[in-house]
Amino acid sequence: MMIVMKPTATQEEIDHVIARVHSVGARAHVSKGEEVVVIGAIGDREHVARLELEGAPGVSQVVPILKPYKLSSSQLRPGGERSVFEIGGRRIGGEHFALIAGPCTVESREQVLETAAVVKDAGAAMFRGGAYKPRTSPYAFQGLGQAGLRLLAEVKAIHGMPIVTELMDVRDLEAVLEVADVIQIGARNMQNYTLLAEVGRTGCPVLLKRGLSATLEELLMAAEYVLKEGNEKVILCERGIRTFETAYRFTLDLMAVPVLRQLSHLPVVVDPSHAAGRRDLVAPLSLAAAAAGADGIIVEVHPNPEEAICDGPQALRADEFAEYAASVERAAAVAGKAFTTA
Ligand code: PEP
Ligand code: MN
Repeated sequence: MMIVMKPTATQEEIDHVIARVHSVGARAHVSKGEEVVVIGAIGDREHVARLELEGAPGVSQVVPILKPYKLSSSQLRPGGERSVFEIGGRRIGGEHFALIAGPCTVESREQVLETAAVVKDAGAAMFRGGAYKPRTSPYAFQGLGQAGLRLLAEVKAIHGMPIVTELMDVRDLEAVLEVADVIQIGARNMQNYTLLAEVGRTGCPVLLKRGLSATLEELLMAAEYVLKEGNEKVILCERGIRTFETAYRFTLDLMAVPVLRQLSHLPVVVDPSHAAGRRDLVAPLSLAAAAAGADGIIVEVHPNPEEAICDGPQALRADEFAEYAASVERAAAVAGKAFTTA
């Protein structure tokens, strides 16, 4: 249920509504728009229905939230405002476009420092790199773990870039939190609800990747698990889904960009690397994503892709990255967005 206050509502009237919401065991999510305050009553449907706040002092109208996801729904923002998050001095959302770049996996000190220097110079806002890797084969390299996190900490100390890195197991949460500015939840963990709730409790921004076969509604319900714990900073990520097509690794669902932006106020980024599985497709997909209104791109880059331990065929070459970034910046401008910088 959504309680829209009158533009003239006093703080006392707002507090009264919040107290009523709490009294039926629901949570009150208050958003202050430019004109009015909107209070989302989030909780058991039947209890919330008993609120009967129509006609209460200061209340303009009471509207049901029709979607099963509530906190991520754009309905909670009647003014249409988008969520904008500040992460290590960079912004994402609204007019701010974040290019997130780095290797698939952290391999060595030289590899991450060299890549970070290149992507930072080219205008990337954040550095990506996995220390814990979800691999299809249990025999494949699983990531450097804590040693990888230490290398990411060096990248941050030397280049001052915010770090995006994946968390797979809640037992690694503390270690990951020491270096991560954004915790990535991988496609394969999108519906790991205990993990989602746990990162929700940290308050650390989360980049939530769409599952390989997940619907947009399932993605938004997964985001809801994080938001429900009080963590408002969720970035949605389209990374390609499974279809009958076998000519490329996954099918990038670009329609997800405008549709998610209609359904939700949360920023939406696109990962062209994992969708394509092939370097030659990464630039065209990135341009299309930026022009379609994505709030950012997360892309894999390697100084020497032929020697990459993981995902080499899809990694952009570091020495070609500046040209790539410039073209993405132009495409983002088409959609009215500018690269965010420190
Ligand atoms: C990754 O970003 O390196 C990754 C493994 O992505 P996904 O979870 O989308 O497959
Ligand atoms: Mn990868």
